[in-house]
Amino acid sequence: MNEHPDHPDHPERLAAYRARAVAWLREHAPRFSGAARRGLGFEQDLALGRAWQALKFAHGYAGITLPTAYGGAGGTELQKLAFTEEEMRYDLPTVYFSVSLSNPVPILMKYAPESVRRELGPPALRGDEIWCQMFSEPGAGSDLAALRTRAERDGSGEDAGWRINGQKLWTSWAQIARWAVIVVRTDPTVAKHAGLSYFFLDMRTPGITVRSIRRLGGEQDLHEVFLDNVLVPDSQRLGAVGAGFKVAIETLMIERYAVVDESGYAPPLEAFASLAAGQRIAGRSALDNGEFRSVLAQGIVERLGMRNIHRRALDAMAAGREPGPEGSLRKLLLGRARQRVAALAMDLQGPSALQLHADARAATDFTPAWMDPSLRIAGGTDEVLINTLAERVLGLPQDHRPDKGRPFNEPVPAGRA
Ligand SMILES: Cc1cc2nc3c(=O)[nH]c(=O)nc-3n(C[C@H](O)[C@H](O)[C@H](O)COP(=O)(O)OP(=O)(O)OC[C@H]3O[C@@H](n4cnc5c(N)ncnc54)[C@H](O)[C@@H]3O)c2cc1C
Repeated sequence: MNEHPDHPDHPERLAAYRARAVAWLREHAPRFSGAARRGLGFEQDLALGRAWQALKFAHGYAGITLPTAYGGAGGTELQKLAFTEEEMRYDLPTVYFSVSLSNPVPILMKYAPESVRRELGPPALRGDEIWCQMFSEPGAGSDLAALRTRAERDGSGEDAGWRINGQKLWTSWAQIARWAVIVVRTDPTVAKHAGLSYFFLDMRTPGITVRSIRRLGGEQDLHEVFLDNVLVPDSQRLGAVGAGFKVAIETLMIERYAVVDESGYAPPLEAFASLAAGQRIAGRSALDNGEFRSVLAQGIVERLGMRNIHRRALDAMAAGREPGPEGSLRKLLLGRARQRVAALAMDLQGPSALQLHADARAATDFTPAWMDPSLRIAGGTDEVLINTLAERVLGLPQDHRPDKGRPFNEPVPAGRA
C-alpha cells in the first residue's frame, strides 16, 4: 500500500480514480458493447473496436502507464489495473488490441529511439495502427529460444540491414497488423539464447505473406507468417545484437498481472449458478446435485484464492517490488476452471449447447469457453506453468536441459542427452 497522500496509488486516490473510470465506462461503454456488437461482421466489429480505442485515447484511458509524450496517460500500473478490471465488466471489442497494446507497443516505447516512439506511439494507442508479435514458430513455442527464422546482415553504413527468412506461427491479428515485433536468429554458432536479436518490422515490407489458421470456434485471430528475404533496417533493431531473448522475455513479462479472475475471460460463476438453478435433474433443482455443487464450490474457492494472489501482487507493485512467480498459479487455475465449469454447463444445457450462436464468445458463453483452450496455451502452457511453479515456488530441481550452453548449430548428439 502506498502511504503518501499525494501519490496516485494512495488507496483513497486510487479509489477516486476507479470511481471516475466506473462513471466514464457507464456513460460510454454501452454504445460499444453487448447488444451493440450483436450481428456485426468481423470488419464492423473491428471498426467499433477502433472507435472505442480512439475514445479511450481522447479521454486518457489508452496506454495508461505509457508516457504522455508518446500518447499515453502517464499513469501507474495500479491505475491501469483498476481501469482494466472495470472495463472487462463490459463485453467490449478490445480483443483486436490485446496483443498490440499489451506487449509490442510498451516494449517499443522502452527500446526504440525517441523519434520512433513519438511517431509510432500515438497511432498505436489510438487504435489506428495495430501491432502483432512474431515469436512462436513451428518448432519453437514453449522453448522460444529454439527458433529458426534467421536474419543475415545485408549492406553497411547507412544502409545496414538484415535479410530475414523463415516462418512464424500463431501470430495473433497478423492480418490487421500494420507493424510487428519479431525475434530472429542472428548467430547460429553460439548457445541458443545468445544468438537471437529483436526487431520491429513494417508488415507491408515485400516478402511477407500472412495466412489465416481456421479455428474450431471460428475466431479469426491466428495466423502463420512467411518471411521470404524480408529486408529490415538495422535502425529497427530493439536491444543489442544477441540480446533478443532478453527483450523477448521482457516483452512477455509486461502483461503478467492483467488477469484478475474469470471476468472478461469466461462467463462468471454467477451465470453458471443461475443456469443450474433453472434446470432440473431427476425432479430436483440442479443446484441440489452434488456434482454441480462441488464444481461451483471449487470455483468459488479458486476465485477467492486468485483474487488474494492478485491483491498480494498489487501490494508488491504499490510498494515498488516485483510480484513473484505466483502469477503463474492464477493463470493455471483460471484456464482450467474455465473449461471445467463450461463443460458442466454444456452438460446441463443438453443438445442445445451444441448450437453455436454466431455472436457467442468465450467471455460470455459456455460453449465457446469450453471449445477455446487458448488461455491454457498462450502465454505459457499449463505444463510449463507447472514447471515454473515447481522450480521457482517449490524450489524443485530444474528440468533436464541437454542443449544448455551448446552452440545452436551443433545439435545434441543422439544418446548423449
Ligand atoms: C490463442 C493463441 C494466441 C497466440 N498468439 C501468439 C502471438 O501473437 N505471437 C506468438 O509468437 N505466439 C502466439 N501464440 C503461441 C503461443 O505462445 C504458443 O502456442 C505457446 O508458447 C506454446 O507453444 P507451442 O504451441 O509451440 O507448443 P509446444 O511448446 O510445442 O508444446 C506442446 C506440448 O508440450 C508441452 N511442453 C512443452 N515444453 C514442456 C516442458 N518443458 N515440460 C513439460 N511439458 C512441455 C506443452 O505444455 C504442450 O502441451 C498464441 C497461441 C494461442 C493459443
